[in-house]
Amino acid sequence: MNWMEKGAKHSGAVSTDIFSLLLETSEKERRKRREELLAPLGIKEFFVDGRITIDKRTCKGVECKLCIKACPTNALYWKSSGEVGVTEELCIYCGACVLNCMVDDCIKIERRREDGTVEKFSTPRAFTILEHNTNTKKRLERVKAVFPSTADYLKLYKPTLT
Ligand code: SF4
Ligand code: SF4
Repeated sequence: MNWMEKGAKHSGAVSTDIFSLLLETSEKERRKRREELLAPLGIKEFFVDGRITIDKRTCKGVECKLCIKACPTNALYWKSSGEVGVTEELCIYCGACVLNCMVDDCIKIERRREDGTVEKFSTPRAFTILEHNTNTKKRLERVKAVFPSTADYLKLYKPTLT
């Protein structure tokens, strides 16, 4: 037992993990701020959290700015220092910037869905494949909800021989 724990025991105080509490509070504040900023835009969040990075070395900068035009939340902006900046609180990790970027691997996005699935992409091709696979999975889930097995489907749609 260290001196802090001894002190807490002596004073009868309940020991508290102050660092976890601070992390929890800042995460709540972050989410609240995002909700306040995104609510007026009427944008729903699909990802629990994520990360976006832009490679300044490969970015075409002022000649391009396609990502800034494509961003639905205005999370991207042109800095006075001559590079693209990101307002993290506004980024919903939708991928529109990656889809419009003319340089592969310039914008990198990593995002986590509510079910824990982590998705990473940095090229329009990778983004398109990911979206296609996600939509196919959703369609299959919808079909399975109506017809759990092939037998269920055939019960309704089996052609009748006359
Ligand atoms: S991922 Fe979407 S919201 Fe985030 S910066 Fe790119 S376009 Fe904007
Ligand atoms: S779209 Fe890509 S290359 Fe163009 S400004 Fe944005 S990050 Fe740079």
